Amino acid sequence: MLLIPCPFCGLRNEEEFTSGSEADRHRPADPIALDDQAWVAHLFERANPKGAVREWWWHGRGCRLWFVLERDTVTNAIKVVP
Ligand SMILES: [Zn+2]
Repeated sequence: MLLIPCPFCGLRNEEEFTSGSEADRHRPADPIALDDQAWVAHLFERANPKGAVREWWWHGRGCRLWFVLERDTVTNAIKVVP
C-alpha cells in the first residue's frame, strides 16, 4: 500500500487518489497550428522517465483538491512540492 501525503489532509491511502498527468505539461500555445500527428503526440504520448517526476494528483475521496507532488518512478518515494 502506498501512502500519499495530501498537503491538505495528511497521509492517506493511495486508493483515495487519482493520478493526473505530468505537472509540467502545458497546452500548445497555438493549437490551431498543430496537425493531427502533433495533436496525437500532445494528447497521448508521455515521456515516462525513470526517476523523479512532478505529477498532478486529485484527492477525489478526500478534500477533492488537485495538488502537485514529486514521485520517483522507480522507488515510489514521494515528496510534496511546495
Ligand atoms: Zn486531501
